[in-house]
Amino acid sequence: MRNVIELEITPLANWSGVDDRPLVVAGPCSAETEAQVLQTAAELARYPVDYLRAGVWKARTRPSSFDGAGDEALQWLKRAGTEHNLKTTTEVANARHVELALRHEIDAIWIGARTTANPFSVQELADALRGTDIPVMVKNPINPDLALWIGAIERVHKAGVRSLAAIHRGFATGDETRFRNRPMWDLVIELRRMITNIPILNDPSHVAGRRDLVYGVSQRAMDLGLDGLIIEAHADPENAWSDADQQITPHRLGEILARLKVRRTSSDNAQFNASLEELRHDIDRIDAEILEVLSERMRIVEQIGESKRANNVTTLQVDRWKAILEDRMERARALGLDHEYIKAIYDVIHEESNRLQSAIMSGQNGEAAALRDAMRRE
Ligand code: PEP
Ligand code: MN
Repeated sequence: MRNVIELEITPLANWSGVDDRPLVVAGPCSAETEAQVLQTAAELARYPVDYLRAGVWKARTRPSSFDGAGDEALQWLKRAGTEHNLKTTTEVANARHVELALRHEIDAIWIGARTTANPFSVQELADALRGTDIPVMVKNPINPDLALWIGAIERVHKAGVRSLAAIHRGFATGDETRFRNRPMWDLVIELRRMITNIPILNDPSHVAGRRDLVYGVSQRAMDLGLDGLIIEAHADPENAWSDADQQITPHRLGEILARLKVRRTSSDNAQFNASLEELRHDIDRIDAEILEVLSERMRIVEQIGESKRANNVTTLQVDRWKAILEDRMERARALGLDHEYIKAIYDVIHEESNRLQSAIMSGQNGEAAALRDAMRRE
């Protein structure tokens, strides 16, 4: 298990001014024209939106795509923010972007997913940020690599930035899901465990990739107790010059915000707390039992491994594995357990069993066996 990291981080409320509800950042994927930015901001200002977002420089996959209006769009963003009483934020990818954003008094910046994945770029940004106090939000890297995400946060922190947040925008994993970027909420929970005090925003637009999924992802983020949302909104989403499928109208954003249920991290209802305590006790007991049973299973796997070795038989017997899986999935179905969930558990169990048996086969199991013997004696 990875260690907890202690970072001095300014509470979100101190730089955003929002402390009684999640922070809301909204605005177009890209600043296209001055009129589009002003129109979108005017509509967004009717709803509880705190920051106006717009991409000025866009990192596009293909060179033929619209790559942002560039430097002059910073003035549009700033003007729209000032006219509609919204703070402003944009994405930066190099030192020049940082300087320009600071010069235009943009209120916060974010580091995009493609940039977080490149430590050279993150270091360049961190160096440009040294001595400034502009709030910085760090998106997760495109690939599901928590260390890379944490590394980027640490680099910026090391440069002296204390007004820091993370943005979860989902991950490109290559497998088919209904999302554009798989959320992998377990990685977000792990980030929360490792850097407990970092505010985490969710970007449901880039997770979803489709406007009809934005509400569901946002609610999921609220259920986890995340600190805010960054949502792409555009006055005319169908005709947006980038990410047209996932942008929503400001009106729709207003509906989503009104409908979202914001959860609290705890309650002062004594009856609720007492029953929660009791249920957690049950969970602790069941987890202890699960671990006992897994340990017993591993002891048997080890015995099988030793007898396979003595008889020169392969560790993997594919028919046996198929039969196990079929049987366990059938039992899981009867018990009302989710297929994917149990399949994932069995894949891990089987992999570990195979690893142990391979170690036995190659005679490298000395250490593992000694450890297990020691544990058995306790
Ligand atoms: C964006 O927010 O418009 C953007 C490009 O996001 P990401 O870096 O998450 O792809
Ligand atoms: Mn976008």
